[in-house]
Amino acid sequence: SPTDRSPTADPVLELSGVGKRYGSETAVSDLDLLVHEGELVTLLGPSGCGKTTTLRMIAGLESVTEGTIEVGGTVVAGDGPQTPPEERDVGLVFQEFALFPHLTVAENVAFGLEDPDSPEAEARVDDLLDLVGLSEYGDRSPEDLSGGQRQRVALARSLAPEPDVLLLDEPFSNLDVRLRVRMREEVKRILDEANVTAVSVTHDQEEALSISDRIAVVNDGRLEQVGPPEEVFENPTSRFVASFLGQASFLPAEVTADAVETSVGSYDRDLLAGLGDGYAGSRVDVLVRPDDLRAEPAAAGDADGTVVRRQYTGPSFVYHVELDDGTVVRCLHNHTEEFEVGDPVTVTLVADHELAWYPAR
Ligand code: ATP
Repeated sequence: SPTDRSPTADPVLELSGVGKRYGSETAVSDLDLLVHEGELVTLLGPSGCGKTTTLRMIAGLESVTEGTIEVGGTVVAGDGPQTPPEERDVGLVFQEFALFPHLTVAENVAFGLEDPDSPEAEARVDDLLDLVGLSEYGDRSPEDLSGGQRQRVALARSLAPEPDVLLLDEPFSNLDVRLRVRMREEVKRILDEANVTAVSVTHDQEEALSISDRIAVVNDGRLEQVGPPEEVFENPTSRFVASFLGQASFLPAEVTADAVETSVGSYDRDLLAGLGDGYAGSRVDVLVRPDDLRAEPAAAGDADGTVVRRQYTGPSFVYHVELDDGTVVRCLHNHTEEFEVGDPVTVTLVADHELAWYPAR
């Protein structure tokens, strides 16, 4: 089972062996996850992998069929009776922001407070509107706000009762692309500033990489890997995680006593991360990202492969090269348009860091 190490602060949320079955279908199985104070952990995975079900179990909108959930050291779901959602110190931000149109922005934010008309509540609302950059908008109707502003109101409303844990369910998916990128930075800033402990759910790997303190990659109801974005991206423990986070190619290689032999050349054994002694003779597949490889023009007889696809990404080109053994790898080239489909090329590993690898299948 994936290890979960982030001993920096006390866990505010703890899932132990959590599972969810719907009849004979298992939506989530044996999920262990610790979320520490002030941390933003993102559940990332493909559609149907069990992210939303997990979030709903934490919120209490769904029961657990296995395991326990603790919030702030209190068991809220497990063998005994489940704590109802309103008695859990958990806030929720949904993709549709669900603001009350007949209330002002300030009244929406005050809605979650016990005594919304008290001077304390008013001060709290002022603080929150300030935090989300909407001090001037308290008297407006939410209908007269932009999408991004509405989302910040929804966030302020969820933060008003000071929940132990804030849950964000695809909070940016209803925003257009440019606003989405801006809002996720903004929301991250707000959560950091208020030291909020949060769990978000997304299937967008770029979003997960850019805002999370740690990412929990979920596949088919199971946790595949948990770790900081760089670790999960650079050292994925499975092919699934490697492929789900960014573009991944797998280069077949044979480990010898003193080298790693591939169809694009022979490299030092140090290239492979954590390769112990005793792998000589093993066949492995090396994870290569587009920027780990470089293609060069070649005469047909000297080529390692042929360009089969040219992908324009804006700042760069990615050339898909089919190697002689049939493997397709991707090579990143900044700015320059160098090859046409059909061009013979040589391919070189230019990675300046250790590469992850998996036993050959
Ligand atoms: P998406 O990104 O598409 O929202 P998800 O990762 O959030 O997907 P879940 O909504 O958690 O996935 O669903 C996980 C699995 O559980 C799916 O196979 C789904 O069909 C199943 N499931 C979810 N809710 C129910 C339900 N009420 N009854 C039966 N099966 C359900």
